[in-house]
Amino acid sequence: MGRYTESVCRQCRREGLKLFLKGDRCYSQKCAVEKKPYIPGAHGRNRRGKVSEYGIQLREKQKTRRIYGVLEKQFRNYFEMADRKQGITGENLLILLERRLDNVVYRLGFAASRKEARQLVNHGHFTLNGRRADIPSMMVRVGDVIQVKDNSKDSPKFAMIKDAATYKTPPEWLSVDVENLTGSVLAFPNRDQIDTTINEQLIVELYSR
Ligand code: SF4
Repeated sequence: MGRYTESVCRQCRREGLKLFLKGDRCYSQKCAVEKKPYIPGAHGRNRRGKVSEYGIQLREKQKTRRIYGVLEKQFRNYFEMADRKQGITGENLLILLERRLDNVVYRLGFAASRKEARQLVNHGHFTLNGRRADIPSMMVRVGDVIQVKDNSKDSPKFAMIKDAATYKTPPEWLSVDVENLTGSVLAFPNRDQIDTTINEQLIVELYSR
């Protein structure tokens, strides 16, 4: 399976903004966007000039892929699914991305970043409706219950996660029971409940060229 091999902080620097891919570090002074606020690479400091309309649309798409940790082919598939659904394509796209299991684990507060959520899911620490769920791209449905597996709950890792989750508030479309490390999907999110700076219309324009 393909995956990103570039350092995650380089991805933020390339987009010129914090994508919050590293959990707590992103909120500290060690954040690479703060320390090196220019494009990575030998000529990063000197890159200037007007960006074309296509360039702006492309960057928005790349930024979105990086936030959710999705590769190009899969992202394109999400777009096509979004386009086939009723409603606004850009919003449909974001809702599909939010419904990924790794994103839901992150949103529930059971991981410090989507990257960590993906790893925890891959390692088989979660169940979905009582069944092992180890595929980060699984799509949740309304009424689904996501739970940390019983034999993972007592590990030091999940003790830390539980502590941290106590201070987090999940979005309205999810409910969480931190004590039992369980969450459920109350509804699909609407656009207002998705807190990102993404301009999804630019992605629609890019793929409509
Ligand atoms: Fe991005 Fe976080 Fe790295 Fe800062 S610390 S550059 S926000 S991944």
